[in-house]
Amino acid sequence: MKVYNTLTRRKEEFVPLEENKVRMYVCGPTVYGLIHIGNARPYVIFDTIRRYMEYKGYDVTYVQNFTDVDDKIIKRANDEGVSTEVITERYIKEALKDAEGLNVEPATYHPLATKEMPHIIEMIKTLIDKGYAYEKNGSVYYDTSAFPDYGKLSGKKLEDLIAGASNRVGADPDKKSPADFVLWKPKKEGEPYWESPWSDGRPGWHIECSVMAKRYLGDTIDIHAGGEDLIFPHHENEIAQSEAANGKPFAKYWLHNGFINVDNEKMSKSKGNFFTLRDIAAEVPYDVIRFFILNGHYRSPINFSRELMEAAGNGLMRIKNCVKGLSFHIENSAGDVMTAEEASLMEKAARFKEDFERAMDDDFNTADAIACIFDYVKFANSSISENSTAAFGKALLDGISELCDILGILPKDNGGDSVDTTEIERLIAERSAAKKAKDYAKADEIRAQLSDMGVVIEDTRQGVRWSFKK
Ligand code: AMP
Ligand code: ZN
Repeated sequence: MKVYNTLTRRKEEFVPLEENKVRMYVCGPTVYGLIHIGNARPYVIFDTIRRYMEYKGYDVTYVQNFTDVDDKIIKRANDEGVSTEVITERYIKEALKDAEGLNVEPATYHPLATKEMPHIIEMIKTLIDKGYAYEKNGSVYYDTSAFPDYGKLSGKKLEDLIAGASNRVGADPDKKSPADFVLWKPKKEGEPYWESPWSDGRPGWHIECSVMAKRYLGDTIDIHAGGEDLIFPHHENEIAQSEAANGKPFAKYWLHNGFINVDNEKMSKSKGNFFTLRDIAAEVPYDVIRFFILNGHYRSPINFSRELMEAAGNGLMRIKNCVKGLSFHIENSAGDVMTAEEASLMEKAARFKEDFERAMDDDFNTADAIACIFDYVKFANSSISENSTAAFGKALLDGISELCDILGILPKDNGGDSVDTTEIERLIAERSAAKKAKDYAKADEIRAQLSDMGVVIEDTRQGVRWSFKK
């Protein structure tokens, strides 16, 4: 399995620190509002990478934090006249709801910075003791000049950073160098705070992730991940903190997802082209959003548009219809042993799984992996007939479902449908009863009603079979 490592800027063979184990840390959202469609990308991408690693037999410990101390959270709390906990609790709950909608497996741990204060203070103390940090007027800063590797992840040079920053106005006079960054800052009036040896205050954002990664995964971890905007300064600073404090390499592989743009423009609040995931999910089912995200390579930028969403919806429908057709076949056919001809077809079908794995082994090329599933679907549709055994239907269904499960694209709890199918089943039963009673007008009426719902039905020798319109 090859992964692209931002740290070395090349694809490398994935070799875990400990055999069969993967320790993975993914930076989570800041919880001051509903997550947006951009935040959904790291959720889906790193969940898929985790699923693939689990499929490969690794025992994955997956940590994704929520950033629950931040200026934007404090502002929101003040605007609403409530405490910051009210805001963070509300939006953590909402983010978990969105993650569940996207079929993202819960992390092994979802730590919160506010619950880790003694450990954060401990790491800052260590950094001061080792000469990597200094205190000034109640603030503590990281001394970037003390860490010779500073810039190794982003490729930035310390002298360029200093030159760039010194042109800016409003620099913090307490910093020794403009490239230094805050580890601890004193509270301002009305802000939440914690006691520390330096001041009543709160930690900087970067130190939180260094501490939570250490606490839940150890000093050195296999994978650290997040969106590409986090490479600098967030991840660069995490490396500086963790490697200085622990005296060990921090993360072996650094993985970053590309951005989601809207109508080919960078999504941002100021441009007004900003969508919460909840708003999108009101129009497009979550499973289509997940499928849409997986249709592009995780490192490339992807463009969000209604047309592309629609295309993703149609693609997913093709897979669902095949799965539905195979399930119908299994229920309504005999034969629990495949014929020799069917067995040889299944041998041929092994190549879809091999191609799928090859795509995923090449830095998680989910777009190619989805193409393999489409090939499998085409093969299944053309190989199965009313005369096939149930066993053959099952073998095809198992083969396709296994690959879909790795990508998380057919949630199991609702049979892979993002709409409620009980109403469809009820109408089909009602139509069958009408036909039996020779009330053909009513049967036709129900067929039309189903058609309005986007459902086509087909009377076969095995019974009524239905699928969604393509
Ligand atoms: P934030 O709440 O801004 O800290 O973001 C949480 C996660 O979402 C981080 O991993 C970000 O890199 C990622 N992210 C934010 N915006 C986008 C976007 N437009 N496209 C892809 N990822 C994003
Ligand atoms: Zn982080």
